[in-house]
Amino acid sequence: MRTPLITLGLLGLASASRQIPLNPRPDGDSLTGANLPLKSPREVLLSLHRSLVEISSTTYNETAVGHFLADYLSSRGYNTELQYLSSDGFGAELQSPSPVSSDPADPKRRFNVLAWPGPSDPGTPRLIITSHIDVVPPHIPYSISDDPPTSSTVIRGRGSVDAKGAVAAQVLALQTLLDEGSVNPQDVMLAFVVGEENPGDGIRELSESLRHKVPPEAVIFGEPTENKLACGHKGALFCVIEARGAAGHSGYPWLGKSANEVLIKALAEVLATDLGSSERFGNTTVNVGKMGGGVAMNVIPEFAAAEIAIRIAIGPEDGANTIIRDRLREILDGVDPDAFSMKCTHGYGVVETECSVPGFETIVVNYGTDVPNLDGSHVRYLYGPGSILVAHGPDEGLTVGSLEEAVEGYKQLILHALRK
Ligand SMILES: [Zn+2]
Repeated sequence: MRTPLITLGLLGLASASRQIPLNPRPDGDSLTGANLPLKSPREVLLSLHRSLVEISSTTYNETAVGHFLADYLSSRGYNTELQYLSSDGFGAELQSPSPVSSDPADPKRRFNVLAWPGPSDPGTPRLIITSHIDVVPPHIPYSISDDPPTSSTVIRGRGSVDAKGAVAAQVLALQTLLDEGSVNPQDVMLAFVVGEENPGDGIRELSESLRHKVPPEAVIFGEPTENKLACGHKGALFCVIEARGAAGHSGYPWLGKSANEVLIKALAEVLATDLGSSERFGNTTVNVGKMGGGVAMNVIPEFAAAEIAIRIAIGPEDGANTIIRDRLREILDGVDPDAFSMKCTHGYGVVETECSVPGFETIVVNYGTDVPNLDGSHVRYLYGPGSILVAHGPDEGLTVGSLEEAVEGYKQLILHALRK
């Protein structure tokens, strides 16, 4: 049960809130376009999507796109908050701290954009609609294949799919429902977070800010699912394995101990081991993404390291990560009980999301998302335009038709989440 009209706001630590009367602009487009003619829904959608993609926003450099989005939503009558990240490198267990400081005086300080159409104190909304505004490098400029566009027109550019397509479609979907009067403004909030690609620090900040509040009933996450409703995604665990040996002359291998050799044996064993499978999620897979070791061909290597990404196909969401980590440790110890050290992210097992909504095709995906990093017992939906198969690649792109279909999809999901 939830209590309506909670007085506690979502406004987190060190927030900057701007309250602007609810007065949505009919043109829904250019911030300076008060005198422009009314635009079609397609023009409004494509214009917002274009602006988002044109602004480079690789992880840790999301400030410009964040300000754009906050201004865009403010000028359309939303209350907005820049939710500054209170710590550096939240959740970056394997990394050096964020290259951008959390010093309040730093103009590059990172923030999530929260926006809500209801009263200036948002309470806790029943539904949070979220996606991420950071993208992977490198920035790829926006391009569009036809003018005027049709539904089969292709739009390319970094983030056009992952996940600025979702951001634009979510904004348009919510705006349409508000304009129609089919959603109560105080029930919803938009939350566009930074750092999803790595290390998930934006969503953890949002999660932290909700910790002592009445939780939302539901959260819609935007990621590329080809406009199918995801039933879940694989779990993930990222580990750095280091091997220590003893250096010596390569002609006398018995005088030393090869760190490369023990690491290669251990990785071969990891790759050959069944780490668990399930009907819905398939096999747990291991990618040895990065390796290095030794100093010269004629020196027995003293040190070697590998970075591996494991996509976990078993549950539970909170626990399978430990099962896999323990199994890895056993394998390493079986090869050599003294050689290895291992550091892993917290990780998580398979993540299940709500997919029994009439009218949607369903899908299961292998990539990680912000879904497991937002704590709580809310109903979770995962949906968005475009395909993960082109996201992060040089040809990242999607059709105008898929963006428009996503607006309809999000409208249905918002209504589904707020039914009753
Ligand atoms: Zn994404």
